[in-house]
Amino acid sequence: MSEKVYCKYCGSSASSVSSLTQHSCSKNPEGKYHVPYEGSEKSKYECKYCGSSASSISSLTQHSCSKNPEGKYHVPL
Ligand SMILES: [Zn+2]
Ligand SMILES: [Zn+2]
Repeated sequence: MSEKVYCKYCGSSASSVSSLTQHSCSKNPEGKYHVPYEGSEKSKYECKYCGSSASSISSLTQHSCSKNPEGKYHVPL
């Protein structure tokens, strides 16, 4: 079983945290690089600010969130 690491801001995936975080992220409001999502893999991801849900992190985070105080896009819970 291979586990993937996903960026919580854009949903990009990599095989390890170190390979994920060496690439820059266009949706990270606080920094330049991808930030690993720390939750477990789910069939649905909910935005922690507004409760919108999507079947993947990448589809959740490509939509803008009206309630995110720090950034523009939904952020998975
Ligand atoms: Zn990212
Ligand atoms: Zn949202």
